[in-house]
Amino acid sequence: MIEVNELTKRYGGRTAVDGLSFTVRPGRVTGFLGPNGAGKSTTLRMILGLDAPTSGTATVDGVPFRRHPRGLRHVGALLDAGQVHAGLSAAAHLAALARSNGIPRRRVGEVLEEVGLAEAAGRRVGGFSLGMKQRLGIATALLGDPPVLVFDEPVNGMDPEGVLWVRRLFRRLAAEGRTVFLSSHLMSEMENTADQLVVVGRGRLVAAESVAEFAARGRGRGVVVGTPQAAELAAVLRAAGAASVEPEGSAGSAGAVRLAVTGLTADRIGALAFENRIRVDELTPRTASLEAAFMELTADSVEYQAGETR
Ligand code: ADP
Repeated sequence: MIEVNELTKRYGGRTAVDGLSFTVRPGRVTGFLGPNGAGKSTTLRMILGLDAPTSGTATVDGVPFRRHPRGLRHVGALLDAGQVHAGLSAAAHLAALARSNGIPRRRVGEVLEEVGLAEAAGRRVGGFSLGMKQRLGIATALLGDPPVLVFDEPVNGMDPEGVLWVRRLFRRLAAEGRTVFLSSHLMSEMENTADQLVVVGRGRLVAAESVAEFAARGRGRGVVVGTPQAAELAAVLRAAGAASVEPEGSAGSAGAVRLAVTGLTADRIGALAFENRIRVDELTPRTASLEAAFMELTADSVEYQAGETR
């Protein structure tokens, strides 16, 4: 279990992480989501003891990582796949790490096999593609067979086949009872991978809940209707039992107004408009998606910060 409590990191006048608190539990995949610059990497570095917090605490199974006696055998991490010495072979890199961390040598072959790099074991890392480097980074994290795994943007640079593979791997690691925490700036990467989400914007917590709970937050549902007769249509829709009818965004071409309607289906709105001889230029059902919830919630936090600094 990873516990982050009121964690704050300032760089000079800039607050990268701002009073963040959340818990990452074993047995599931937890996605750490936020736009670029939201403070994800800084938080992960503090969890791994690579950066000291300005205030607050981060612990892994109750102990700050730096004081963990088992090190790599307790927490495996991939922070930056480019960190490996380019002149070493994949196997030599892993063997050196195994030696310095008291990990049996046989693990090197096992993890290379696991990540699909067995054939490339003897090749210099300098010639690896980004996707291969990511696989090697994942092998490094798995080397000590740790119960806690932390990955920063693990899918970056992977081809679609690699993305599917890594998704299955994370799900399996969680099913084995491990704590799996992975960051991404893309909701789409989390949608079919994570069970839980920790969402941040500008260093602050936006949400910490299940994927299903998060999706339900999005305004997502409802229908957008474009019409040059907005007042008339709004009156008809309200009379027909619409839960809400609100102007949506800016006016369209030729004076058309877009209305966001909830509580009526697109079919019903179309029929009502037809029966009342009201012209409709657009009729778009909105689906509740994680992407919509993510954009909405993090857009708020970005705007808030922009207003604050100007
Ligand atoms: P993310 O991983 O979500 O993209 P980061 O944690 O990398 O976000 O960065 C959060 C903020 O902290 C950014 O504004 C970044 O510029 C700033 N930051 C990160 N590391 C440093 C550093 N070493 N010195 C100064 N500012 C930093």
